[in-house]
Amino acid sequence: MTSKGLAAIRRLLRRHIVPRAALIAVLLAASAAVVWLSYTGIREREIARLQANADGRLRQLSLLLLAPAERYSYLPNLLANYRILTETLRTPRDPARVRAANTFLRQLNERTGTSLMYLLDLQGTTIAASNYDAADSLMGRNYGFRPYFTNALRDGQARFFAMGVTSRKPGYYLSYLVKDGERTLGVAVIKMDLRLPELADSSAEMLVTDAAGVAFLSSRPDWNYRPIRPLTAAAAAQVRSTRQYEGVLKAPLAPAAGRQLTTGGQIVRLRDDAGTSAAWLVVRRQIADSDWSANLLMPMARVEDIARVAALTAAAGIALLLMLGVLLAQLRSRVRERVRSRRRLERAHRALEVQNNELRLLSEELRRKSITDSLTGMFNRAFFLDAAAAMVGIAKRHGTPLALLLVDADHFKRINDAYGHPAGDAVLQLLATVLTEQTREGDVAARYGGEEFIVALPHTPARAAAELAERIRARVAAYPTPPGMAGLRLTVSIGVAQYRAEEPDIGETIRRADAALYAAKRAGRDCVRVDGVAAPDA
Ligand code: GH3
Ligand code: MG
Ligand code: MG
Repeated sequence: MTSKGLAAIRRLLRRHIVPRAALIAVLLAASAAVVWLSYTGIREREIARLQANADGRLRQLSLLLLAPAERYSYLPNLLANYRILTETLRTPRDPARVRAANTFLRQLNERTGTSLMYLLDLQGTTIAASNYDAADSLMGRNYGFRPYFTNALRDGQARFFAMGVTSRKPGYYLSYLVKDGERTLGVAVIKMDLRLPELADSSAEMLVTDAAGVAFLSSRPDWNYRPIRPLTAAAAAQVRSTRQYEGVLKAPLAPAAGRQLTTGGQIVRLRDDAGTSAAWLVVRRQIADSDWSANLLMPMARVEDIARVAALTAAAGIALLLMLGVLLAQLRSRVRERVRSRRRLERAHRALEVQNNELRLLSEELRRKSITDSLTGMFNRAFFLDAAAAMVGIAKRHGTPLALLLVDADHFKRINDAYGHPAGDAVLQLLATVLTEQTREGDVAARYGGEEFIVALPHTPARAAAELAERIRARVAAYPTPPGMAGLRLTVSIGVAQYRAEEPDIGETIRRADAALYAAKRAGRDCVRVDGVAAPDA
């Protein structure tokens, strides 16, 4: 590779390839940025929208969840004021009292629609129960370990959601301290069903979790009794000791706490029973008057789908724009190329035209030269013969007369000898001038050779030709002497002949004109002789 070649490549790189590559890189980077921004932007917006929706639904959920429990707010007073319960607590070994208490609890339980009602003594042992005669009767069982018992002793009342240790059915326990004046006698307990309020919406899952994070009410049954995140050691110990989720607690839903969003939600990867893992947007809200949380879980797959579609749309739009740009650039360069080639063509055309013109002028010049005599500028012998042949054709066809003059300078040799050859040339030019002046348009005057001229006169009979010849002779004889040629006596002799119809061509006519010229020479020169006409003095 020569250094010149290298320099050309470098120039090409600098001028075209590098700027174009830089432009393409910038365009690609900008497009990627736009696609990324539309993806993240739409994703954020979608998450914000879901969260806004979730807040309203969670508020509803937390309002509705505990509403049924509020229906029993009158029960503490009721239970405390029923002497049958206080008396049974005071004498738990009296079968008649216990029977009466059992009957009372059963009737009250049926009327209020709760699932269980029972009475615990100060050790937490059941001394009367609404299901006293059932197979899974609570009678005699001890619930001293249950927080609804211990907390009621401490606070006067308590609430607790748990699996029934005996029934193995989940329920919401409401407990109330039973007192006789200042003396504490025991704890009355109501167990009721707690259900997720009907807020069905297929687009989201609902979970109610306790303080430890265990889901106990869920729109997906397989998520029940699963901590939403791994339990702390303390929480695990607590769940164990209260036997809250006796026999039903399962592995955590998520292997770790999720990613906290600045907007308050959380993105959590949940693994379901089949082992597939998916991201969910979790929005949580504390339920009033409890340590429970309401959770709304929305699949992130839908958010990602929407964001992906937005990104694809942006990418498609950009691709379309880029393609349009490339197309326009191509179109522009094609138009430019077309203009350039048209200009090239026009230039070539103009050059050709100039060349053509020059050729035309040249050929005209050549033609002119080929038919003229260079010294005098008159037609030459060859042209004359052609023109005369054409005139013979016309004369034959139309029967018009055609005459010839053969003009010869007298004693020309002497002129050359006396004044020199160039002077002789000048005299020949002078004779040409006279002949041109004296003939009219349509006549053809030519230099026939040496100091001899010939004139063809169409539409002219011999007599008229003779008159012209005489005018020429007289004009030459009277011509002023050119400077430097003192003593010059310039005369011409002229022979005249008329074409005869029987002659095949002009040759015979020329011969007869020549004979007439010879006659003029013999007659003493400076005179005109006409073929076939006797000399005036003969
Ligand atoms: P005549 O009266 O019998 O015609 O006598 P002449 O001397 O004119 O006749 P001749 O034919 O013997 O001589 C013609 C001369 O014309 C000879 C030649 O040198 C001269 N001549 C012919 N062509 C040219 C020319 O182009 N230039 C010059 N200067 N002289 C020419
Ligand atoms: Mg001669
Ligand atoms: Mg002569």
